[in-house]
Amino acid sequence: MDKEQKNSSDRMTRRSFIRSSARGVLLTGTGWTLGYLGGRGTAEEWVWQIDPSKCIYCENCATACVLSPSAVKCVHEFEICGYCRLCTGFFVPDSIALDESAENQVCPTNAVVRKFIEDPYYQYSINEDNCFGCGRCALGCNAFGNGSLYLQIRHDRCVNCNQCAIALTCPTEAIRRVPKSRPYDKKLQVQEENPQGGESEA
Ligand code: SF4
Ligand code: SF4
Ligand code: SF4
Repeated sequence: MDKEQKNSSDRMTRRSFIRSSARGVLLTGTGWTLGYLGGRGTAEEWVWQIDPSKCIYCENCATACVLSPSAVKCVHEFEICGYCRLCTGFFVPDSIALDESAENQVCPTNAVVRKFIEDPYYQYSINEDNCFGCGRCALGCNAFGNGSLYLQIRHDRCVNCNQCAIALTCPTEAIRRVPKSRPYDKKLQVQEENPQGGESEA
């Protein structure tokens, strides 16, 4: 293996490591384990969740929830992310510079945290305490990026209303009940289960 091939191989190894490490952060940091409610619920119980394939990020989720701030948060599926230097979920289209200045950021509450990994890769994570579910970052990511940022109802906050107030006003009927044993919609998982497209389990 010549020097250039070795450097390329090293970069790929590091990038694979970043992805697998980040996947661990996602799964542990946001509690996206399918059985995280084990012992507290049964497969017959249902909770409300957003279908990412239907959500258009209309900002209604930020204000229609009975909770304030909303139980809806942005989540980041690292396996889909491109770790872009110019993240369209982070930077406004006319940003003056690619830095963390408030005027350059899409998020109005500084809830998207940008961290340099290695040239040219950056990791973006969500500080849920600052996120109020407006979906502006997800709109930017889905419009021009890989769509790895999207909205989910977080079940450590949601009180599982008999009728979700957001679902009543959602313009695309993106919110429906899912089994409590599987409370989150991971995009990759849905794509693997429905490779031809179509609606996720509801
Ligand atoms: S109300 Fe519906 S379309 Fe609007 S942000 Fe919420 S889930 Fe998405
Ligand atoms: S832009 Fe909105 S949805 Fe995205 S992290 Fe900030 S507050 Fe949350
Ligand atoms: S079920 Fe209730 S608490 Fe949960 S997201 Fe809907 S309105 Fe908010």
